[in-house]
Amino acid sequence: MKRIYADNSATTKVRNEVVDLVSKLMKDDFGNPSSLHFFGKRAKNYLDEAREKVSNVINSDPGNIYFTSGGTESNNLVIFGIEKSIEEKTLSKKKHIITTKIEHPSIKTPLEYLEKKGWNISWLNTDKEGFVDLDQLKSEINPETALVSVIHANNEIGTIQNINLISNICKKNDVLFHIDATQSFGKIPINAASADIDFITFSSHKIYGPKGVGGIYINSKHKLEPLIIGGSQEKDIRSGTENLPGIAGFGLAAYLLNKNITQNANYLTSLQLDLINKLSKINNLILTGPKEKDLDLGLLKRLPGHVSFCIKNIEGENIVLQLDLRGIAVSSGSACSSSKSNAESKLEPSHVIKAINTPKEFENGSIRISLGINNTKDDVDYIFENLCLILNNLNKKSLIRD
Ligand code: PMP
Repeated sequence: MKRIYADNSATTKVRNEVVDLVSKLMKDDFGNPSSLHFFGKRAKNYLDEAREKVSNVINSDPGNIYFTSGGTESNNLVIFGIEKSIEEKTLSKKKHIITTKIEHPSIKTPLEYLEKKGWNISWLNTDKEGFVDLDQLKSEINPETALVSVIHANNEIGTIQNINLISNICKKNDVLFHIDATQSFGKIPINAASADIDFITFSSHKIYGPKGVGGIYINSKHKLEPLIIGGSQEKDIRSGTENLPGIAGFGLAAYLLNKNITQNANYLTSLQLDLINKLSKINNLILTGPKEKDLDLGLLKRLPGHVSFCIKNIEGENIVLQLDLRGIAVSSGSACSSSKSNAESKLEPSHVIKAINTPKEFENGSIRISLGINNTKDDVDYIFENLCLILNNLNKKSLIRD
């Protein structure tokens, strides 16, 4: 069966060059970067090289990059690192964090945990395209605010926040600023220095690199207390022998993607616009996330290649499963949740779909198609044709306009 992978926001296919490098490091260059001998020094060279390649993507000093096991760990390190820094008195005692209602669970859940422990967490509203309410941000900041944490490009609806505007507000008020750049890293320009960001978190498997590796940029003006201690690796920020094959693979993937960042973004935007245009032919379908262009970037104000939408009175998961039967891999924004009290399962729209005020009858019908550098225009045609066939079979013929 023909198979099309269009779920690149979930993960990406590792590049062949990266597979070759990872395999070489596993087979031949297997040293521990902390060892003093030949094998150790060789491993250390790979580590340094990867740090430099990753730092180039966000225009930072390599010394400000720390490798972790991925986006989830890096995000936990920001939130719980700040909590620990306050406990250890390396940060002043401020127990207020501002975030948004559309964060990834690796930020949302740690912040809900702190909220239960008595921290004051402000959850910013967004407009219906997912843009953060900047007036609300200004009004929520107070002398107790330790951090503003914002998802740069949203994984579900693709919205790219204007981080320069948010950073200006934070800096005027002397508040730390974190962006979760797991979806945006290497795909749209990020400049740690000029945007004056304190923490940036990212992951390798979203950029055609290996899974289980990622990193964090920490502005050298600050120190975060580590969560994993004991071995002093990564300048004490993240102990444990480095996942060297993964890190080297991440470095190469970052370099290869960044080299063509503009061409990739333009190519993916053309596929994205083609698909959005085709989807506009389907009745009772609404696009979620931004539709307009960012005049500075010349791209849509959403992640290149990312298309998300909701269909009225349809379960997104049903469509995802039917597309899968036709060899097409995409995802849905709804997840089956079981109620503990009556052990019933019901489909719940995601917190993001709810936050952007999606009309009720569309809430469960969310679908995300995330195109990557391996997708083609033929893939877009094939996906659209099959989606129309599925909707017709569901006896929703009236959905398709002539
Ligand atoms: N943040 C965002 C915005 C994400 O999309 C993801 C991955 N879905 C993560 C964090 C977590 O990254 P990882 O899978 O590397 O733990």
